[in-house]
Amino acid sequence: MNKVTSNKNLDDIDFSVTIIGSGSPQYNPNRTQASALVQYKGIKFLVDMGNGTIEHLNELGLTGRNAPDALLLTHHHIDHNAEFIPMVHSKLMIPGNKFLVAGPSPIDEMVDYTKKFYKEDLNYRMKSRGRTFDENNSNEIVKVLKGGESFEYKGVKISTIEVPHSIKTLAYRFDVDGKSIVISGDLSYTNKLQKLAKNADILVMDGKIVSSQNRNKNQNSSNKKRNSRNSQRTSGNNSVKAHASIEEIAKMAKASNAKIMVLTHLGTQVIDEKATASKYSSLGFKGKVIVGADFLTITPDGNSFMLVKTNTSNTTNATQKRANRNSQSINNRNTYNSSSQKRDLMSRFDTNGDDRISEAEAKGSVKENFFRLDTNNDGFLSTKELRNMRNLRN
Ligand SMILES: [Zn+2]
Repeated sequence: MNKVTSNKNLDDIDFSVTIIGSGSPQYNPNRTQASALVQYKGIKFLVDMGNGTIEHLNELGLTGRNAPDALLLTHHHIDHNAEFIPMVHSKLMIPGNKFLVAGPSPIDEMVDYTKKFYKEDLNYRMKSRGRTFDENNSNEIVKVLKGGESFEYKGVKISTIEVPHSIKTLAYRFDVDGKSIVISGDLSYTNKLQKLAKNADILVMDGKIVSSQNRNKNQNSSNKKRNSRNSQRTSGNNSVKAHASIEEIAKMAKASNAKIMVLTHLGTQVIDEKATASKYSSLGFKGKVIVGADFLTITPDGNSFMLVKTNTSNTTNATQKRANRNSQSINNRNTYNSSSQKRDLMSRFDTNGDDRISEAEAKGSVKENFFRLDTNNDGFLSTKELRNMRNLRN
């Protein structure tokens, strides 16, 4: 396992990358498909969103108004973009909440398609919140990228290059406060990556690992064949290799002089992390090697830790919180006033103890008036929003 220093929350960190999904197209219960979240002081850039991304974002509480501010794609392979359309759909549901979409063509057509195809559905969902979906006045900014662009979004500089893969693919670099994070995208060997990734603090790499099954022997011939088939896979008459070999990855990382390389896009083999790190070292890459894992967060100073899953860890505290509130409301039974009434509504409906009421938790008149009460449209009722129940009753 990676050295996990502690469990933290994104709010505690200025600049980081979290591996949301460290897997590949091959089904793996331990690794969902490709996705990485670059975060700078609460501004969140989601790079790629393969199958499983939304589930993991939900576990981290990064949905609704907490959802990523920018949706970026490296390329249009299904293990990188499967959840792009549902992500766009959920961003369109929050009027006024501007968001950036960027990636290779036809990303603009995918956004237009989402708006057309889901127009009725968006209208239906927004109507229950007293709004309508206006496709001509929606809240996205779309950038079609070719590679080579450099632009700023919310104070973070984003640079791109095209990298060789079986279809048009981009690598991204994020620069802020003299620190940098690079996401390689899927790629075969190129001497162009070293320019984009020059002196990067963190290089998140389409990686190869040393498996513990073949550490002590030479790779057997079927393994060799499979690996070479995977890295040589080509598309049609295009002769570009899809992925780089471990030697080529080491060469690109060394040439870029990255401080930390995070290996991702991993298969189902059992990984020997120690052997993997020493292999890269023996191939000339002297930076730190980190084997990626879902929810692993890495900061430019080289620390790594698993991000706290708010939606599951909360349930641990939930029982205690709920117990406290219940005993409080029993104690307050004889001094019933409007403030304990507020607490009472919260404790009656907040079954998971997260101090807010979801639509599923609400019942009766609170449920009926849910969307009128949810004035900030985050899909939850706070104590403050609950106060308006009194006004509705009057
Ligand atoms: Zn790919």
